[in-house]
Amino acid sequence: MPQALPTFEDVLAAAARLEGVAHKTPVLRSRFLDQKIQAQVFVKCENFQRMGAFKFRGGFNALAKLSETQRRAGVVAYSSGNHAQAVALSAQILQIPATIFMPHDASAAKLAATQGYGAKVIGYDRYSEDASVLATELARSKGLTFIPPFDHPDVLSGQGTAALELFKEVGPLDALFVCLGGGGLLSGSALATQALSPGCQMVGVEPAAGNDVQQSLRKGERVKIATPVTIADGAQTPMVGAITFEIIKALVKDIHTVTDEQLVQTMRFYAERMKMIVEPTGCLSLAAAFQASASLKGQKVGVIISGGNIDMARFSELMSAYPAVD
Ligand SMILES: *Cc1c(COP(=O)(O)O)cnc(C)c1O
Repeated sequence: MPQALPTFEDVLAAAARLEGVAHKTPVLRSRFLDQKIQAQVFVKCENFQRMGAFKFRGGFNALAKLSETQRRAGVVAYSSGNHAQAVALSAQILQIPATIFMPHDASAAKLAATQGYGAKVIGYDRYSEDASVLATELARSKGLTFIPPFDHPDVLSGQGTAALELFKEVGPLDALFVCLGGGGLLSGSALATQALSPGCQMVGVEPAAGNDVQQSLRKGERVKIATPVTIADGAQTPMVGAITFEIIKALVKDIHTVTDEQLVQTMRFYAERMKMIVEPTGCLSLAAAFQASASLKGQKVGVIISGGNIDMARFSELMSAYPAVD
């Protein structure tokens, strides 16, 4: 282990850094949802976070901790999606120069947003080049600080502030559903849960197409899989992080999986019933809660929506690919 594992203290420190900078996102309820699951369901809406996803929390926390010298030199990151925007926006706020590697086929909207925050974007080929190698090489040659998307104590501690806010607002829960890619959001949430709601069952949710963490927990070590083919693009990680896995192994027993069809039905639910646009990855948590409803009867259940960044053309494409059921 390269660094000591972060603790709940680090989540609290992150919350202090994010105070007045990150949005305190709303926790929404729906009578229809409560009836459907036969439970009290609390939906923490990180789709309303700055730049549209929880990633701003971890990105800003990591950048805010840098020394003056590190800030002057600048930061580098890679991402096809929300981490790029999170680092770019955080760097803009803190006046730190940022370079982001983005794949040539990244969505035009995400590219424009990242450049709009003032970051320098360098394209790469996601099939023939390894972005983490490109980013660490540049960091070394130019003296920049590399900000990884999930496997970093400051990043995951920042992500944990979403669950911290949820528990502060609604008190302890019986179960909390959190989506899972590299495990930054889940491990950070687990630190908050252990401290504020120790009896709460933590459920990590990954796409059925790529259940690497389910396999990893069974095996007791990290399993690497081929990049999963799923519409949940925020959870297409081939392997969980080393630091995030240590925390998940200790604090999370249950990993559920969800199909693309279930994700689209959940997107439809959020749009029709709760008037929210949620990206496919952001629907993992509630889709899993729907499936687990028989075991949730009468409980207090938390669900974290991780993000809402999807363009309307893609949204309607997915709606017609999987028509409404019941
Ligand atoms: C990054 C991301 C995830 C996955 O988060 P990890 O910390 O890598 O597990 C889930 N949803 C959205 C919207 C994301 O941007």
